[in-house]
Amino acid sequence: MSDCIFCKIAAGEIPATVVYEDDLVIAFEDANPQVPVHTLLIPKQHYANISDDVPPELLGHLFSKVGEIARLKGVDKTGFRIVANTGEDGRQTVHHLHIHVLGGLRLPISMGPAD
Ligand code: 5GP
Ligand code: ZN
Repeated sequence: MSDCIFCKIAAGEIPATVVYEDDLVIAFEDANPQVPVHTLLIPKQHYANISDDVPPELLGHLFSKVGEIARLKGVDKTGFRIVANTGEDGRQTVHHLHIHVLGGLRLPISMGPAD
């Protein structure tokens, strides 16, 4: 997708701090981190979100790399959270499938009130 910011990051057309990369996926630091560890893991190929008929093998590969990202970021022992905001109600703002890997502090239990 030519106007997709994460496609551009995957193609190396927009700079990002890359944490991990292989043929199928890339992980990079969130530009506006919400917690000390805030890394985004995406497939290089464009899918709008997790409901966008993503091939199971690709989804499997993507999720199989979560633990490695956590190790690389030093939160595999302390713990972390993964989040995939999806669609309007899910408050997805970048419409290229991505998994947030969040950690580096004891995360709050509550999701907070709806607004
Ligand atoms: P969403 O709200 O769609 O789940 O998350 C999108 C995330 O992408 C946000 O946390 C936002 O800070 C991050 N983001 C948006 N644009 C860029 C960018 O150009 N570079 C990087 N590294 N992160 C971005
Ligand atoms: Zn894209």
